[in-house]
Amino acid sequence: MNFFLASYAATVTNSRGRRQQEPSPNYRTEYQRDRDRIVHSAAFRRLEYKTQVFVNHEGDMFRTRLTHSVEVAQIARSICRILNLNEDLVEAIALAHDLGHTPFGHAGQDSLNRCMSEFGGFEHNLQSLRVVDELEERYAEFSGLNLTYESREGILKHCSPYRAKELGELGERFINKQQPSLEAQLANVADEIAYNNHDMDDGMRSGLITLEQLCEMPLFAEQHEFVIGHYKNLTERRTIHEVVRRMINAQVTDLIDTSIENIKNAAPETIDDIRQQEKSLISFSDEMYAYNLELKRFLRKGLYQHYRVRRMSAKAGRIIKSLFDVFVEDPHLLPPEYDSKVSQMEKAEGDTGKARVVADYIAGMTDRYAIGEFERLFNPSQLT
Ligand code: MG
Repeated sequence: MNFFLASYAATVTNSRGRRQQEPSPNYRTEYQRDRDRIVHSAAFRRLEYKTQVFVNHEGDMFRTRLTHSVEVAQIARSICRILNLNEDLVEAIALAHDLGHTPFGHAGQDSLNRCMSEFGGFEHNLQSLRVVDELEERYAEFSGLNLTYESREGILKHCSPYRAKELGELGERFINKQQPSLEAQLANVADEIAYNNHDMDDGMRSGLITLEQLCEMPLFAEQHEFVIGHYKNLTERRTIHEVVRRMINAQVTDLIDTSIENIKNAAPETIDDIRQQEKSLISFSDEMYAYNLELKRFLRKGLYQHYRVRRMSAKAGRIIKSLFDVFVEDPHLLPPEYDSKVSQMEKAEGDTGKARVVADYIAGMTDRYAIGEFERLFNPSQLT
């Protein structure tokens, strides 16, 4: 924890508080308490078995949502300290940012969103908020984790204006086109740095992308040239890791330098000044922004749309859709606690309520649990 915070950093003094008031913690800050609640949540533990790009059982060496979240927190905290922002808050946001992800990564999210199209849709970002606001059942006095406004603000990265209207104070910035705290902006960019870089590493490890392909990207090529020029006889694995760590360093350094400059020019004094800005003050230089776009384009084409990833995604989509259809048609197939939630929600909101409970159940599954449920419900040889 850094002891000197900028006047525009989020602090317990300028916090907008919790939805339900609670006594202050004795030996922690409010944001430490948020982080600790996130770490102890069931949704956080389940991230260990949720896909980032590769399905969890494809290999133990690939990133999962849990290790991804830890990497995001590491990058965000390092930058946060230099900028004199609130490390506890950025850590809480980073660790919680993917809590609402479905099994099977984006394929799962897209499929569940299609299933929910008549019932308000499904969006992982809103679901992360739903997890911390409502779904976790750990405390006697409230549902969810009752996090501070600033953690919730950071978790809700994007939101349509239509949805934003339903979210009250938290949704206002999407309607008024304002910014969240710098800590929230930072967690968002750290997410991008983490996945762009680790997906290259995982992509190589999986054999789906090659070193030659990666060298077509200027940001990679520049660092690669340096590494092979300075170190002789490195194995391919070591070369890649050395290049990737240098890429992360280059991106982080650029982000810090550019953001310091942006903050200097905008001269904010309070956190409200930050929220009033038209643009995010945490940003890359134009040059690094362009490099990053190219990196993302490369990964989309070379990795996310690779036919083997597509096959996995198509299969994952079918699993999610099959589970959704079968549970909506007969909610009594759900475990009893969800079945009774369906009855409650159906009374209150009709079919939309029923579909939402089914979506919550499916979204909470890990990859392997979803595969297991599919097997139990559809495999004729498993009649027990
Ligand atoms: Mg993420």
